[in-house]
Parts: sequence; structure tokens; C-alpha cells
Amino acid sequence: MATPTFSGRLLLRGSADYERARLSAVWNARKPDRHPEAILLAAADDDVVAGVRWAAERGWRVGIRSGGHSWIGTGVRDGSLLIDLSGLDEMTIDRAAGTATVRPAVRGVDFNAALADAGLVFPSGHCPSVGLGGFLLGGGYGWNSRALGPACMSVEAADVVLADGTLVHADDETHPEIMWALRGAGPGFFGVVTRFRLRVHPAYHAIVRSAYSFPNAMRDEVLAWTYDTVPDISPWLEMSAKVTQEVTTITAAAFCRAPGDESMLAAVEAAPFLRHAVRRVERRPSTINDLYALSDALTPHGNRYAVDGVWTSAPVGEVLAAGRGVLDAIPTPESFLLWMLWDNYPEAATACWSTQGRLYFSPNAVWTDPAADLRAESWAHAALDDLAGVAAGTQFADHNPADRPDHGIEPAQQQRLAALRAKYDPSGLLCDYLRPEESTTALGRQLSQR
Ligand SMILES: Cc1cc2nc3c(=O)[nH]c(=O)nc-3n(C[C@H](O)[C@H](O)[C@H](O)COP(=O)(O)OP(=O)(O)OC[C@H]3O[C@@H](n4cnc5c(N)ncnc54)[C@H](O)[C@@H]3O)c2cc1C
Repeated sequence: MATPTFSGRLLLRGSADYERARLSAVWNARKPDRHPEAILLAAADDDVVAGVRWAAERGWRVGIRSGGHSWIGTGVRDGSLLIDLSGLDEMTIDRAAGTATVRPAVRGVDFNAALADAGLVFPSGHCPSVGLGGFLLGGGYGWNSRALGPACMSVEAADVVLADGTLVHADDETHPEIMWALRGAGPGFFGVVTRFRLRVHPAYHAIVRSAYSFPNAMRDEVLAWTYDTVPDISPWLEMSAKVTQEVTTITAAAFCRAPGDESMLAAVEAAPFLRHAVRRVERRPSTINDLYALSDALTPHGNRYAVDGVWTSAPVGEVLAAGRGVLDAIPTPESFLLWMLWDNYPEAATACWSTQGRLYFSPNAVWTDPAADLRAESWAHAALDDLAGVAAGTQFADHNPADRPDHGIEPAQQQRLAALRAKYDPSGLLCDYLRPEESTTALGRQLSQR
């Protein structure tokens, strides 16, 4: 097959602009040393269809990039055509129907800005620039997801280019298997989504947040209290803790549907140790943009990041004992351990999304010097081995199966997903989860020498 005519740009390996496109496909400053054979900057659905067919003809795999926020650059693969969807960022909102149609590169911050004008909201990722494509496929733990659900549960329909080069319009009636897989398979999904139809939600009456920081001498007491308290707090109250080298901070955001709903923060204000706070913000009215800004400040663009995490519902004493090595060894002043309180959200037969727990224990290593890669990566990934006895899987949002194998969906869902993959993509055209031999990290190199 001759090279098709694309309406977007095709950058062959070695051509001008190829390397810039390869590097910019990954938001993290720590770039993978993997080199697709070509990068297609898709401008239309037809480009994706033609790209998938062309890659199959050439014996290449297909990697995908939407917002580029995979911490490990999972779409950038050797021997592949990288279909870069970053130009597909249109959205339309149907206020009356309570739905929106988004292209995969729409960023959470832009989506919520457009929704706000229509009196609506969506649980997009905490960082403003995360792309909806990978976020939705990986489950999607966004602002107020404890109440509104992992974002994948709000996907009603999607346009998907399959491995045979057909473009299907999928919903639960026409293509239930595709919809089931799309809701949570992460990078194990077997198609390229070019459009999502999402259910969106009424805007909040108000968002009110509080934050309390404590000396790390109180760390275990503070963390244990949040863990034991989360089953009793409103799902509309998003509570997490962050542990840095200096302090342990509880943050709580109340998503209020009516006047007076901010009283749900009283649950946090009842913490017995509150008077020891060294810094406090109390019941501060906030916008969704304020929340984005706070998150953005924690993970600014330009740093090197290694992020991972495990779910657990074990007794908190066991979690703290197992996690002590990680909690005591936060590698840089910017790094933090995210202690994300979740509790369980109802699972659905229409979604493969399944792995969850009361807590997501997530090391976020942040650094700038490449010489520190091994130390930071070891803390974020290898040190989680200490939690093996209490861990119940990971989130695809932070999954790094090349350097630390773990599951993001449960065994029954894994089996069904593998069977669907074999049916829809029998030759393995679409790249699957990253494998250890594809790792290009310092930790991966060390592991491969063992
Ligand atoms: C700073 C930062 C903050 C984050 N915060 C959150 C958070 O609050 N909650 C959360 O859940 N996650 C969070 N994440 C993780 C993020 O959701 C995932 O990395 C997600 O995959 C990013 O989506 P993307 O489209 O930007 O990524 P990309 O790197 O473009 O895509 C990652 C992979 O997803 C798959 N994929 C993406 N688009 C498509 C598509 N259209 N069709 C088929 N497959 C596709 C492909 O396998 C692709 O390689 C964060 C990441 C970063 C860097």
C-alpha cells in the first residue's frame, strides 16, 4: 500500500520535526527512549482509519497519544506508528440533554470552563491539563469522583477505530463489549477512540475547602484518623492527605449542592488533633479553577516524575507498618505521598473498571536531575513491594507495568478483556500495556540486569 494522503502531518523517523513531536508526546520531562517508526498528527477520523490500516500493512504496531499525560509515555513505542490525537480537541455541549461530546485531546480545565457557562460540571482529572482520552479509559479519578463516579462511568457512547480499520459508533446497545472494555481498560483497550459522548452533571452551588498541616511527628495519627473516618463522611466531601518531607496535610473539598452543605466539613473539623495544626485554611469558598491551580502547583510542568500507587482496604495499622519505608524516605522536598481516601464506588456490569479500595497509597516522586532517576524511581515503584501484603492492585492512571507489574482491573475482568482483545485485535496491532523489556528507565535497566 502506498503511503496514504493524510489531512494531518506524517513525520517519518529521521525527518524534520519528528523528534520534537516524539518528545512533546510526553508531558513528563523524563522522556522514554523509544522511537516510533512514524508519527501521524491526525487531523480527522479518516486519518486515524487510514493510519491504522497503513500501520497494519507495514507490520507496525499502533501507539496512541491524546493529552500526553501518561507518566511513562505509554503511547510512544518502538516499531509503531504513533497516532497523535492532540489536534482533536473539539467539544460540544447539549445542555438540555445533560451530555457533551468531546474529542480525546480536550483538557479537563477547558472542558470544565465550557461546561461552567452551561451550568454543568464533569469530574475531570485533578491536574488541569490532563487529556480526557487516556483519563477516561483509565478509570478517571477526578474532582468529586467519590460522588460522581470514576469518570469512565459517565461515558455513554464513543466513536472507535478498530484494528481492522473500521470506525464504529458504539453505545451500550450497539456494541456492549466495546463499551465495557472502554470503561476502565486503560492502555489495554483495543481501539482508538476519536470521540466520547459523556453524561455531565449539574454545577455545584458552591465548593468550600479546608486544609490543615501537621508536623510529621503526628503523621501516623493524622493518616490513621482520615482512614478510619472516610466511610462515615459524605461522598460529596473529597478528602486526601499529602505527606512531604516536612508536613502531613489533610485537604478536604466540599462539593455543595445546596446552601448549608458545607457543614459536611464538620466531619474534618471534629478531628481530635486539629489544634496542633501548624497551617490552616478553613471553609474557603473556591472555584474549580482554584482547585486546579492547587493541583497544578503540586505537579508543575517541567519536572521529572515517577508516580505509582496501590489500593488497600487493610486495617490502617497494617498499612502504616507496611508503608513506613516509603513514608520515611520521601526523596526530595517536592515529592509527596498521596494518601487518597476513596472508599468503594459501586461497580457495574457495563464496565471493566473494578480495582479499588478504601485508600490509594501513591508515591509521587518529583525531581529535576537525571542523575537522581534511579533513587526517585526506586522510591516510587520498587519500594511499593513493601506493601505487597496489604495491596489490592493499582490505578491505570499511574500504572507502570514495565517497572512494577500490577493489575488495574480484577482477574475476571482481565480474562474477559484478553478474550475481547483476541477477538477485536487478533494480531495485536494496538499496543497493549508496556512490558518490562520496553522500559527505558534507570530502574528498568537495573531490574533487567538481575
Ligand atoms: C500531572 C498529572 C496529573 C494527573 N492527575 C490525574 C488525576 O487526578 N486522576 C487520574 O485519574 N489520573 C491522573 N493522571 C493520570 C492520567 O489520567 C493518565 O496518565 C491518562 O492516561 C492521561 O491521559 P492522556 O490522554 O493525557 O494521556 P496519553 O499519554 O495521551 O495517553 C495515555 C494512553 O492512554 C491510551 N489512550 C489515550 N487516548 C486514547 C484514545 N483516544 N483511544 C485509545 N486509547 C487512548 C493509550 O494507551 C495512550 O498511550 C495525571 C497525570 C499527570 C501527568
